[in-house]
Amino acid sequence: MSSIFTKIINGEIPSYKVVESETCFAFLDINPLAKGHTLVVPKKEVDYIFDVEDELYSDLMLFAKKVGKAIEKVVPCERVGVTVIGLEVPHAHIHLIPINGISDMNFAKPKLALDKDELSELAKRMASEFR
Ligand code: AMP
Repeated sequence: MSSIFTKIINGEIPSYKVVESETCFAFLDINPLAKGHTLVVPKKEVDYIFDVEDELYSDLMLFAKKVGKAIEKVVPCERVGVTVIGLEVPHAHIHLIPINGISDMNFAKPKLALDKDELSELAKRMASEFR
């Protein structure tokens, strides 16, 4: 069965899409740690990030860098934190999170409740950085 992220990439379930390349896809995390929390995934479904083959892994990292730069322009922050967990969704993904301190990267803390309009507006503003 396809992962939830494959379904998002294929447009079978909705997402707050930011941008895509030939091989990768970026969309907002639905339960964000911070405003602008974005997931970057390879279109090819591979569970564990270190099982992604080298060329695609490089694509993913360079894609994440571009998306990170777009986040910085839209969401004021000191840095964009980068992390990989992958315990919940078995489709490799990188979390990009606008941060101002170490506690902003604490995945154990309660997630933000952003409404649909806010998420949609954020995704739109980030997407516009690629035009
Ligand atoms: P992990 O696999 O532990 O790195 O966590 C998976 C992440 O995917 C979590 O931060 C979830 O909030 C996020 N997530 C799960 N389902 C969706 C979805 N349908 N759209 C956007 N983000 C999602």
